[in-house]
Amino acid sequence: MSLFKILYLSPVSFIGGAEESLCTLLKFIDRNKFDPLVVLPSKGPLEERLLKNNVRVEIIPWGKFTNLLSRKTLFSIFILPLTLPEIFILFIRLRHFVKKERIDLIHTNGLKCHFIGAILGFLTKVKIVWHIREIYTLPVRSALRVFMALPIGRAEVIAISRAVQNRLGFSSPHVIYNGVDTTRFYPFNPDKDLREELGLASGTKIITMLGILTPWKGQDIFLEAIAMLKTRFPDLAGLIVGKELYTGIGHKGYLAYLKSKVKKLGIENQVRFLGFRDDIPYIINSSLAIVHASLKPEPFGRVLIEAMACGKVVLAAKGGAVEEIVRDRVDGLIVEKGNPDALAQAIGTLIEDEAVDKDMGMEGRQRIEELFTAELMTKNIERFYLKFAESQKSSTGR
Ligand code: UDP
Repeated sequence: MSLFKILYLSPVSFIGGAEESLCTLLKFIDRNKFDPLVVLPSKGPLEERLLKNNVRVEIIPWGKFTNLLSRKTLFSIFILPLTLPEIFILFIRLRHFVKKERIDLIHTNGLKCHFIGAILGFLTKVKIVWHIREIYTLPVRSALRVFMALPIGRAEVIAISRAVQNRLGFSSPHVIYNGVDTTRFYPFNPDKDLREELGLASGTKIITMLGILTPWKGQDIFLEAIAMLKTRFPDLAGLIVGKELYTGIGHKGYLAYLKSKVKKLGIENQVRFLGFRDDIPYIINSSLAIVHASLKPEPFGRVLIEAMACGKVVLAAKGGAVEEIVRDRVDGLIVEKGNPDALAQAIGTLIEDEAVDKDMGMEGRQRIEELFTAELMTKNIERFYLKFAESQKSSTGR
């Protein structure tokens, strides 16, 4: 039997939660049945990770104007006409590629790609899967719905959480939770000392926040909580891991803002900015707990399942999919979002009661093994693909 060939479209080449989930899927997917191929707009860390896992990658650039498009800025309206020739060329290249590679299914992994994929599917008569990983605002939801209603947009939809599904309002998207690679994320005693690397005293208790640096992730709330705990716990340090990935209008300058806030709060000795790291399991295992402080409802929050897989307590801000993943006071502490007092209190509880910390960590690991493994996610997605493979077989006799 010939392999079922799937083209994955990613709108970015860096690694955030959506891309980490894609890498995990493609590491675990059954290569005896499926042949994955990823198209990226440029070279970058995502390409490197995929190649390491023997996944074929093709770079098809989107063009300089198309890259500037951001649904958050008015600027996009002025840029739009300039992007039209580039978009035309992009579709010619993608269409040619789909035909040449005899692609059976197109799986899209981000908003711009959902639109591109829908049109590409129409042009090539290949089926589309939208993997929806965000909680979209009303105009975007309406645009997606309009696309779905048109003959070009006949996509099947996977939502990464019920929070995402509920806000979509489409007929029946499947919910398939993201999974974590438990061979990478598991509890271990690191063989090097992160404190030493960061110039922190050996007994320092580390609390860490991971993820892109952007205002809605709430890194500034974390800083305020650290400042509140400075006197009570002089041996506490807060790490901020990740970098500013979106540098378009309205995004730039958050790191500089966070650094000035650290100065203003007088917590230079308590806080370290680590930038982007590719050794997250080591960082999690060197930490006492992982903080999630998003100010908007979180569509999923991979950092939660990664921390729980390492047996660490998560201190998470209420909203979105957080309560689908974390059980308050069982495997983590859920706090009101945007409230540094509540976060500081939760960190304090954790530091003062190490037994709570151990029990919750174990509960969290167990929950991951039951519901959020890479194997489970992959099996569910494969089952979803097989529906297409079956119908393809009966219509083409392949
Ligand atoms: N991450 C990483 N290096 C960093 C910071 C974060 O590899 O320096 C990864 C992290 O391990 C997680 C992802 O980025 O897999 C963040 O995913 P999440 O869903 O929490 O947030 P997103 O950024 O997608 O909103």
